[in-house]
Amino acid sequence: MSRRVMLIYTGGTLGMVRDEQSGALISFALDDVEQKLPELKALGYHLDAVTPFNPIDSSQTEPHHWQSIAQSISEHYNNYDGFVVLHGTDTMAYTASALSYMLDGLAKPVILTGSQLPLGIPRTDARENLTTAIELAGATDSNGHPRVPEVCIYFDYRLFRGNRASKFDSDKFQAFQSPNYPALVEVGTVIRFQDRYIRPVDGPLFKLRKGIDPGVAGIRLFPGMAKSVVTPLLESADNRVLLMETFGMGNAPTHSWLLDALRHYINSGRTVVSVTQCRGGYVDMGRYHSSTALREMGVVSGRDMTFEAAITKIMWLLGNDYTGFELEKSINKDLKGELTEV
Ligand code: ASP
Repeated sequence: MSRRVMLIYTGGTLGMVRDEQSGALISFALDDVEQKLPELKALGYHLDAVTPFNPIDSSQTEPHHWQSIAQSISEHYNNYDGFVVLHGTDTMAYTASALSYMLDGLAKPVILTGSQLPLGIPRTDARENLTTAIELAGATDSNGHPRVPEVCIYFDYRLFRGNRASKFDSDKFQAFQSPNYPALVEVGTVIRFQDRYIRPVDGPLFKLRKGIDPGVAGIRLFPGMAKSVVTPLLESADNRVLLMETFGMGNAPTHSWLLDALRHYINSGRTVVSVTQCRGGYVDMGRYHSSTALREMGVVSGRDMTFEAAITKIMWLLGNDYTGFELEKSINKDLKGELTEV
């Protein structure tokens, strides 16, 4: 029986055309993908496409878009071997991370892909990205089990775990990197599955857990950061968690106004999480004097999570009623392969 892959079209450059009047790129409906990419027929897959909302530039993504994508996957879960989500590159890593938490017990591939140039133009990267993403979404082993039962990003000949990847380049075809976790698949003249890095399925039951609560604030530390920039954020009642991008291994300035404000935030029952603003590596509070105070006041280490994986994880935990100790423990724990535990 032919493999069944569902395409979920959400927008982005891949499906864009140039507007005759303004010259700007706008979305078009990706109705018949096999007509645009006739080489797909050679895969022998059965393909269907859905468009869960009006296609958007992914810079417009909101949590309800993640929920709609997750809902589409859940509704069609039993009828397909894999799913390909066509998505803009700008926020693809956020969507991939959010989906990795929402699709609990996932046992089938969910592969996000997009492109730096639209499908219709001669040097486009859309053709390869889309064709191989579809091929990987339907790939099974000799027992008929999916080769990559994870939420992934396929881009420029590499398949990454979605919650480990970040957009690194706004211009090069190699737009994504995953500094803290190896590629799951390397694609050349043959497709090389790196089985030892692919995550085993969580359990026998697939369950949609799409709760999201955006009650989190993010701040990136920088030398010279003024008190007047930070304190309104910490005094706002809108957030229950502050995700702080710290220097190096989790270091921060030791001005008393900053440490006092963070301490006050934590003492009021809220949570501060630290991830590194370096592209790779991890947070290890206490390694340097300039992170000792943070550790002592109870700042939670996000270890080696990307900013995208951490912020969506916090939203998802809040949206699933995690609070207090449970919330902090879960932030620091590996839930879906997004963090390396020590
Ligand atoms: N702005 C576009 C988007 O993220 C860029 C892309 O698709 O690569 O939707």
